[in-house]
Amino acid sequence: MTTRFENGIVATLGKDNKVLLNGSVVTDGEKVVAVGNSTEMKKRYPNAEALDCNGKVIMPGFICTHHHFYSTMARGMAIPGEPASNFVEILERLWWKLDMALSDEDITLSAQIPLIECIRNGTTTVIDHHASPSMRDGSLDLIENAVRQAGLRASLCYEVSDRNVPGGGIKENERFIKKVGKGDGQIAAMMGLHASFTLSDDTLEKCVGIAKDAGVGCHIHVAEDAADRDDSIKKYGMPTVNRLNKMGASGEKSLFVHCVHIDDSEMDIIAATKTAVVHNPESNMNNAVGVTRVLDLLKKNVLVGLGTDGMSSDMLAQMRAAYLLHRLANHDPRVAFVEAPQMLLQNNAKICERQFGLKLGEIAEGRPADLAIIDYQPPTPISDANFLGHLIFGLVDATVDTTVCKGKILMKDKKILALDEERIAARSRELAPKVWQRL
Ligand SMILES: [Zn+2]
Repeated sequence: MTTRFENGIVATLGKDNKVLLNGSVVTDGEKVVAVGNSTEMKKRYPNAEALDCNGKVIMPGFICTHHHFYSTMARGMAIPGEPASNFVEILERLWWKLDMALSDEDITLSAQIPLIECIRNGTTTVIDHHASPSMRDGSLDLIENAVRQAGLRASLCYEVSDRNVPGGGIKENERFIKKVGKGDGQIAAMMGLHASFTLSDDTLEKCVGIAKDAGVGCHIHVAEDAADRDDSIKKYGMPTVNRLNKMGASGEKSLFVHCVHIDDSEMDIIAATKTAVVHNPESNMNNAVGVTRVLDLLKKNVLVGLGTDGMSSDMLAQMRAAYLLHRLANHDPRVAFVEAPQMLLQNNAKICERQFGLKLGEIAEGRPADLAIIDYQPPTPISDANFLGHLIFGLVDATVDTTVCKGKILMKDKKILALDEERIAARSRELAPKVWQRL
């Protein structure tokens, strides 16, 4: 089916972002077939179904390169005991108890809720990192089903860790990586690993072997807190990145998430191995773990993307958090204006190209038809030259009206079409207190 998304302000993004007033994006099946002036597109595609965008902003769907769907039911939960005073206590008192309490239906609902929130925020592609030790085998299939039902794209993995049982989760990753194979452009797979401080050399070696054989990357938390760095130095005589690199976990397809506590020599290893880094500013501030030296990583040509780490599914919010955080942290109001949007709009697309083999993140002929149509009436002129100003100070607070993924409309006029939001939220409210009781 051919559709004309017309009369919008099209921001094509890509290398030479073009802002087209009275623009139109024409899709056919899962691809964009043309982009240009609305009147012209109407002449060229007279029989296409027309969807009037009424001056709204049409952008490529957003990408989240690090998420934890399973964290959903933590919202509003009273964590038993004394408040956690550091990062390791946050893991021990909250996340390692919550993931243990999840049953199969909890896993499905915990995925469906953030998937709905992704659609609400125009996020069409997600790289997720899952944990549910009591319901481990087959858990990635449950999430895959939820993603397919929602109509989004996702790369999935299970968080391997020795913290419950040595090598726990290796088999689930191996099974799922085999099942997905080269992928169909909608679902991809990675080798998921928790973090250096919960992984023995033996487990790391097994995981890296499986990942290398299958040609997939490792998705691992790296030096999120100083505890991870200290542990690596104490047990292995070297900092975290050196250890992971020595074990073979680095590389073009791998994601080193956070990298808050790394030094210059570790940055050089990341750059030399072309490993991608994912920055999660809201999560880092929430856990009070420190500030990733994102500007230095970018200067070393490291591919740094943006994730939410389960905090939310709103990528424009992460972009603005990054913008604000690095201005403050560097005491410099000249920085991050270009870098924060670059991480979200360009680098996340490059990371996904390595995972899915798709060129996302740009509206152009032949590109995937993934769109976020945002209800934003610019109060000042908008053009290619000042688009970032509108993005950081305007679009970030505007509401997404219509979300399209693989050419399919998943939300229209702010109504979710793909999933029954009310029923899913009601069922989640029913089950969440039972999960809390099991902690
Ligand atoms: Zn994470």
